[in-house]
Amino acid sequence: MNLVEYIIEKFDGVVLEDNQWTVDGSKGNRYIVEWDPYQRNYSCNCLGYTYRKKCRHITQISESFRNQLRGRAGDRKAR
Ligand SMILES: [Zn+2]
Repeated sequence: MNLVEYIIEKFDGVVLEDNQWTVDGSKGNRYIVEWDPYQRNYSCNCLGYTYRKKCRHITQISESFRNQLRGRAGDRKAR
């Protein structure tokens, strides 16, 4: 399973573009999280991000990437 497939399965979201994902919110809303490769920063179109510049959608995405990368590194070490 590659990283993109992992994200889709984990969040039941849709990959819109290379650096853009949708995340389903708790109330059936759907938010768009976007990675800006130039500013190296995530953004989201939900209210939480608008006010606080961070939100749990971004946390979900970024943590899942970190966990996935850590898992791969662990695999290599084990073999
Ligand atoms: Zn958000």
